[in-house]
Amino acid sequence: MSEQMQGAFLPGDSTTVLKSVAVPKPGHGEVLLRMKASTICGSDIRCIYHEHLGKGPEGYQGVVAGHEPCGQIVEVGPGCRRFAAGDRVIVYHISGCGVCNDCRRGYMISCTSEKYRRAYGWQRDGGMADYLLAEEKDLVWLPPELSFVDGAQVACGFGTVYEGLMKVGISGNDAVLITGLGPVGLATGALCRKLGAHTIIGIDVIPERLQLAKDLGLCDEVLMSGPDNVADVRKLTGGAGVERAVDCSANDTARTTAIRATRKWGRMVMLGEGGRVEFNPSPDIIHDQKTIFGSWVTSTWLMEELVERLVTWKLHPADLVTHRFALDNVDQAYSLMASGKCGKVAVCFDEELTAA
Ligand SMILES: [Zn+2]
Ligand SMILES: [Zn+2]
Repeated sequence: MSEQMQGAFLPGDSTTVLKSVAVPKPGHGEVLLRMKASTICGSDIRCIYHEHLGKGPEGYQGVVAGHEPCGQIVEVGPGCRRFAAGDRVIVYHISGCGVCNDCRRGYMISCTSEKYRRAYGWQRDGGMADYLLAEEKDLVWLPPELSFVDGAQVACGFGTVYEGLMKVGISGNDAVLITGLGPVGLATGALCRKLGAHTIIGIDVIPERLQLAKDLGLCDEVLMSGPDNVADVRKLTGGAGVERAVDCSANDTARTTAIRATRKWGRMVMLGEGGRVEFNPSPDIIHDQKTIFGSWVTSTWLMEELVERLVTWKLHPADLVTHRFALDNVDQAYSLMASGKCGKVAVCFDEELTAA
C-alpha cells in the first residue's frame, strides 16, 4: 500500500482542492478503511462549500471533507473488539466521547464533550479520500445485500430521515406531506412508502426535483411551491390535511405550509437545518392539537435497525444517487450538488464507480 493518498478539501469559495496526504495508521481502537463510497450532503454545501459558515458542531476545521462514508476495513489497530479486516462498514459520522449521557444513549451527534466530539468531514478527516481512519465504536456493519453506496446514504441522509419518521410514527393510516424534495426529501418518500403511508405529497421549487420524485415513484402527487399549497394539500386529502408532515426544505414558507397542511391531531417533524419559521400557535397548532418535533441525525442503534429493515424491505438507497464521480473529479461532484439539479451525488471508488 502506498504511503500517500489523495484527499479533497473545501476552502470555502465554491471550489474543491485535492491534496496529497499521508495514509493514516490505525491506533488503539481504530481501523483504516479503503473508501468505497462517499456521498455529498446538503449541509456540506450550506456550511462549508460556498463559505465556512458553521459554528460549533458545524465548524469546518480544514480537514478532508465528506461525512457520509462507507468502505471496507483494510487494517485494524490494537484493541478492536468486533470488526476485522475485510468487513464492510458504514461510519456513523460523529465520533463522540463514548461516555457522556448522549453517547451512552447512542446519540453521539449530541455528545457534550467539547474535547472528544469530532465529526468526520468537519473536525476530523472524512470520506473524500482514498482511505479513512475511523474509530471502531463509530462503525455499523454493512450486510452483503447492501452496496457501499447504499451504506453511504445511511451514514447521514437515510439515517436522519428514519429517526425523524420513528419520532412521528408512520403507518398505513397516514397521508404524508414532504416539503423540500432534495436528497433528504426523496429519502423520506422512499421510507414512507415502505412504512405504509397511503398517500405521499411532495412540494419543491425546482422542477427537476418534482420530476425526479414522480419518476422514482416516491411521491403520488407533487406541487410546485406557491401560495395555494395548503389549500392544494387539503384538496388532495379529502379536505382534512395530512396526518404527518416532514420538512426537509429549511424554508420558512414551506415550514409554515407543512404546519398548516397537517390535520387535527397530526404530527410534523423538522429535519431541514437553518432558517426560520413563523406561525400562529393558537390557530395553527394549539386548537388543532398538533405536535411539532425536531430531529437531529440519528443514533447508532437506530442506524443498525434501519440497515436491517432496508434488507427486509429490499430498499436500496443507492437508487436515489443520480450521479457518480471518481475522486479525481470531486470538483464536478460538489458543483453539481450545489446546483440542486440532481438527486444524490456520490464520489465512488473501485467497483462502486463502475456499478450503475
Ligand atoms: Zn449530512
Ligand atoms: Zn459523548
